[in-house]
This record gives sequence, structure tokens and C-alpha cells, in this order.
Amino acid sequence: MQAARKIMKVFVTRRLPQEGMKILSAAPECEVSVWDSDEPVPREELLKGVQKAHGLVCLLSEKIDAEVLDAAGPNLKVISTMSVGFDHMALDEIKKRGIRVGYTPDVLTDATAELTVALLLATARRLPEGVEEVKNGGWSSWKPLWLCGYGLSGSTVGVIGLGRIGLAIAQRLMPFGVKRLLYSGRTAKPHAAEVKGEFVPMDTLVSESDFIVVSCSLTPETQGLCDKAFFSKMKKTAVFINSSRGAVVNQEDLFEALSSGQIAAAGLDVTTPEPLPTNHPLLTLKNCVVLPHIGSATYSTRGVMSALVARNLLGGLQDTQMPSELTF
Ligand code: NAP
Repeated sequence: MQAARKIMKVFVTRRLPQEGMKILSAAPECEVSVWDSDEPVPREELLKGVQKAHGLVCLLSEKIDAEVLDAAGPNLKVISTMSVGFDHMALDEIKKRGIRVGYTPDVLTDATAELTVALLLATARRLPEGVEEVKNGGWSSWKPLWLCGYGLSGSTVGVIGLGRIGLAIAQRLMPFGVKRLLYSGRTAKPHAAEVKGEFVPMDTLVSESDFIVVSCSLTPETQGLCDKAFFSKMKKTAVFINSSRGAVVNQEDLFEALSSGQIAAAGLDVTTPEPLPTNHPLLTLKNCVVLPHIGSATYSTRGVMSALVARNLLGGLQDTQMPSELTF
């Protein structure tokens, strides 16, 4: 007689792309329950759904803290997040309980870098304003100084956090004729040579760049990094882009810098909170382009991310290798 296979309970906090769901539903050892919606799971439902779970699949919208871990109880052995960022998880609490964590680096790098470049160009060349003027009749004739912006050719670009995504952004920007590529972070990166990147102190990057792109992870050190002092050191003609996490920016200070002409323009794919309320002051500014956190939003990338999420989860449940395990 065969030994009965241990069934493991898995809670998935959102309807995932089918690539990931297929892998999970084909795993005989898993009893999967899904918060079957495109909207985030309410906190009470998360606390209920995770009870006695061996595995948890989550998104960056769920705060995974001691309360969630306590609600799950001692069965929980793996958390698999559909994100490369892990600032939504209390890693110290997770570590204390010996729980493994899977995440999705690399597979979203190209999509996120591409979106960041699109946002930079849209912001610097004022595309949303231009589209709006065509629709509202503001386009009267070709005018020498109407809707002028800033170009990349001959410019200095500063990348804060030349990690996977930061490097991919730099690689895409260099062919536009960028003259100097500066970067800052905790350590100099050997891969910076690929983009002739110069490792400089943050202050140098901020004051010398025509375009600043933030692509670092959100940590206690980077929280609120871009504040009044930061913006006051930027050139008046400089464009600020953030596709990392909203909390890296002090939004009141950014509003002040944009509305007073301290800096030229800003493009944000991430904000605090998300969604940004429709009456938020930043949305009243023509020189601020805000996107709804769509860095990795291509069909193929989201499919690949969900498959990786499922494989990470199964690796954790089976005590085998996870394709992308976070070390912390
Ligand atoms: P990564 O390879 O780990 O890169 C993160 C970079 O942040 C590293 O180069 C790191 O530099 C740098 N960093 C850490 N602390 C810093 C500090 N105090 N000052 C300056 N730089 C610092 O991660 P990744 O895959 O490129 O992803 C980066 C972030 O992008 C994620 O954490 C996530 O928040 C965000 N993201 C957003 C979207 C979106 O949809 N908009 C999509 C994917 C990811 P050191 O190695 O020197 O510490």
C-alpha cells in the first residue's frame, strides 16, 4: 500500500495569470484556494485565508507582517511574492519563523526598464500635454517654443541604484546619445563598465544630471531619499523619474519643487499611496506625469512572473530548490 501523500494548503491572494495557475493546479500535493478577484484581498480575508496554510502566494499590495504570519500558524514554510521588490514583507519576522521566500527578479527587468524609458521620454517631451492639446483644440499652429521639452542627446543621466533594472534602463538610454552616465548606490558595480557608468557621490549625481532616474530598492536608507534638500540641488532644467517605489520620494517636497519651478518635470510610475487619490495635488500639475504602477505590465512578462511564482512556491513546499529564492 502506498503511503498517503501529505496534502499542503496554499493560499493565493489574487487571481493570477493562467501560466501560474496551471502549474499550481497540476501539483497533486497542493490544495489551492484563491482570492478569485482582480482586486486586492481585504485584510480580514487574508488573515482568514492564510490560516493553517503551508504556502502563501502574495503580491506587493499585501503587507506580510507578524499578524499575517501568526494567523497562518506554524505550518507556513514558504511565501512566494509576484514581485522583485520585497519591502511589503517583514523579513525579520519571516526569518525568525524559518520561512523561505521566493520572488521574481530578472524576468521583469526588460519590461520595467522599457516602461521607465517610455515614461522618461513622455515626461521630458511632454507627450501627455501634447495629446491633450490636440484633443481640446489648444493646437492652433506650429509655434517655435510651444510644448518644447528636453532631449537626451548630449545629456548627463544619473541612475540611483544601478541594479538589474537600473542597468537595463542605462543600456536603453545610452543609444539616445547620452554623454555621461552617472550612478550612485552603496557599492560600485563592475557591470557599470557596459554603460561607461561613473560611480559618484549622490550629491554629484543630483547636481550634475539632466535626467535623474530612481531605480533602487526601498529600504530604511532610501525611504524619503528624494526630499526638499535633494530637489533643491537639482538643475532647474532637470527631469526626475521614479519607477522604484513611491516611498523613496517625499511627495510634498516634489510638489513644491515642481510647482515652484525648482525642477523641470517629474514622471512617476509609483506613488504613495497607490492608487494616488484623484484629488492629489501632483495630479494638478502639467509637468508631472503619473502612471499606475505598470512597470512590468506586458502580457508575456506577467505570464512568466506568475509561472516563476508557482515554481518558487512548489520548491519551498517540497523542500527543494526554488528557482528564485530570496536570501536574507
Ligand atoms: P536590484 O538589482 O536589487 O537593484 C536595486 C539597486 O538598489 C541596487 O543596485 C542597490 O545598490 C540599490 N540601492 C540599495 N540601497 C541603495 C541606496 N541607499 N542608495 C542607492 N542605491 C541603493 O533590484 P532590481 O531588480 O533592479 O529592482 C529594483 C527595484 O525596482 C525593486 O526593489 C522594486 O522596488 C522596483 N520595481 C518597480 C517596478 C515597477 O513596476 N515600477 C517593477 C519592478 C521593480 P547596491 O547593490 O549598491 O546596494
